[in-house]
Amino acid sequence: MSTAPAPSTTPVNDNLKGYRGVGRAVLERFGVGVWSDVEIESTRGHFRGLILPRAVTADDRHIVLKIASGYNVGIAADSITAAKEVGRREAHYKIPEKAFPHDPQKPNVMLFGTGGTIASRLDYRTGAVIPAFSPGELYGSVPELADICNLQTEKLFGVFSENMGPHQYITLANRIGEEIRKGSNGIVIGHGTDTMHHTAGVLSFMVQNPPVPIIMVGSQRSSDRPSSDAAMNLICAVKAAAEGDIAEVLVCMFGPTSDEYNLLHRGTRVRKMHSSYRSTFRTIGDVPVAMISPQKLVHLRADYKRRRSDREVTINTAFEEKVTILYYYPNMQPDIVDALVERGYRGMIIAGTGLGHVNKPLYPAIKRAIEAGMHIFMTVQTLWGYTQMYVYDTGRDLMALGIVPTANMLPEVAYMKLCWVLGQTNDREEVQRLMLTPVNDETTEREPYNGYLVYQGAIPEVQEFLRTIKR
Ligand code: ASP
Repeated sequence: MSTAPAPSTTPVNDNLKGYRGVGRAVLERFGVGVWSDVEIESTRGHFRGLILPRAVTADDRHIVLKIASGYNVGIAADSITAAKEVGRREAHYKIPEKAFPHDPQKPNVMLFGTGGTIASRLDYRTGAVIPAFSPGELYGSVPELADICNLQTEKLFGVFSENMGPHQYITLANRIGEEIRKGSNGIVIGHGTDTMHHTAGVLSFMVQNPPVPIIMVGSQRSSDRPSSDAAMNLICAVKAAAEGDIAEVLVCMFGPTSDEYNLLHRGTRVRKMHSSYRSTFRTIGDVPVAMISPQKLVHLRADYKRRRSDREVTINTAFEEKVTILYYYPNMQPDIVDALVERGYRGMIIAGTGLGHVNKPLYPAIKRAIEAGMHIFMTVQTLWGYTQMYVYDTGRDLMALGIVPTANMLPEVAYMKLCWVLGQTNDREEVQRLMLTPVNDETTEREPYNGYLVYQGAIPEVQEFLRTIKR
């Protein structure tokens, strides 16, 4: 006999969108609902904010408020002793579409959309952030873009960035090449932030010597949130692409935690370093290339590739998928390495401890892997600093087995580079030559003496903090 649950008998009340059970009962008791601006008294204190719709998949015991700071708080429904509506504000999620104006005096910029939060809105049915990129919507929400350039847009994909992969990298690199040859003055790529540094790395190898800036941009908060960084990031990125003279693959994101300015990070030296801060991207082991605000671009270093007027660019989309990163941890078992060889992996980047180490029990497995033809390179988990495998005899032993240190290449960049190199050759010497010949500063001769200590946007906050504790 079927035991299918009986259909829900909850009446449809649009004013209580998504609220069920205890949460719904509390809203009904106090005569408030979704989009009510409320004063709430609870056993935990006093709250003021806007009641947001609740995801149907969320629990039924909390009321969600958007408070003045822009953050959302969940209040346990059974702790609420009073709630009073003091106003109503309804959010509208549809952004008006507008055709982008054309000014022949302005540079032409192509914006490729790949997805991510910058192209997303909140879906209150599920509570999830969903990709909803539309070029017209973008202009509708950030009209300042028309003051900077003639913007053309093309949605290449609509994925969150964990779903980016070789197909997307290759399509993107080829489309960038075509647009540059057609005469674009700059390229912007809207991308999820989570793996933006992977894509920036691989594009730095696939698209070489571009004559114009290629600027990757994303946002940590979707554009319908009051604290969104989408507009600032987009304006700065489009400005860097249209007017900037740095013809490299760069990432353009918040510098400090506030929206004072953005930083332009070199594609091979950048990394997402915080899961939720808007100022999440940092140049590792170096200083960023420039600061940029909607008003001006300030270079922070002189060694960058300059914009050119020719239309020449080298596109090389080679990519081998059987490559992995092995993030070493104490007591790692050698069978992991053996399994990778068995599964046909051709390349491995080790993110080793300290100066570039793994434990001794792994040595025989590494030897077997190299003898079976695998190419293995060493990077460091510390991210800052160099592999220095001559310092301890363990490092020397690993090199004797055939592991090649990669100076200060970041693990993800080394991974992308090895995919790219093994897509071109399997010759051991040639693989090593290509891996160790820098294309665009993926390895540098030295890290600036203050590189590690340059806060890259945090200095005002650090000074402010020090002042507070001195008081
Ligand atoms: N999960 C998102 C992504 O990387 C996050 C973001 O876009 O910031 O696609």
